[in-house]
Amino acid sequence: MHLKGALHVHTTCSDGELTIKEVVKVYADLGFDFLALTDHDFLLQWKCYDIIKTLRTDMIIFPGVEMTVFEKGYVHVNKIPGNNDVLHIFNHPAEMDLSMEKAKERIHAVGQRLPLDAVEITSRGFRTPEFETPEIPYVKVATDDSHNRLMCGRAWIEMDSMRDKDKIIRAIRHGDFWNCFTESNHVSQPFKNLVAR
Ligand SMILES: [Zn+2]
Repeated sequence: MHLKGALHVHTTCSDGELTIKEVVKVYADLGFDFLALTDHDFLLQWKCYDIIKTLRTDMIIFPGVEMTVFEKGYVHVNKIPGNNDVLHIFNHPAEMDLSMEKAKERIHAVGQRLPLDAVEITSRGFRTPEFETPEIPYVKVATDDSHNRLMCGRAWIEMDSMRDKDKIIRAIRHGDFWNCFTESNHVSQPFKNLVAR
């Protein structure tokens, strides 16, 4: 099956504006098949994800967490569990505000401590193409890091896979998917550069 998914989503369980129920509806209306809830570890409310079991939806929901990891400074790593397998993604390296050399060092160091599978190539759903480089030896993923309705559906992945959590995780791990961006992403990036100059 052709599946569309969001791998980095915040809800009212931490600092997001939408409840789990609302966020699932928003992404379902946008044609998504799966999403990973990745609320911040230090804000995540106890048992907040228990409601997932009671939702009536076809959406495949991964109950993940955005971990705060100290490695010469704080970095964020999404831990996304399937049924048996677990996916680890280094989040938004552009937001560390480091040179490419330092960013690569930081990613490498975290990869020594955690079983990293992938690195994000987006910041708040906008493309950060400098991180699409093969010099970062990980699979690259596009995500929204959505915290409100406006941020849902800016960047996502699509794949051919069965509707099975572990199969989805393995497809991501093997880079067997497409990164997708809304058209506005392509407009906003050069615009941002123009302003900076
Ligand atoms: Zn996040």
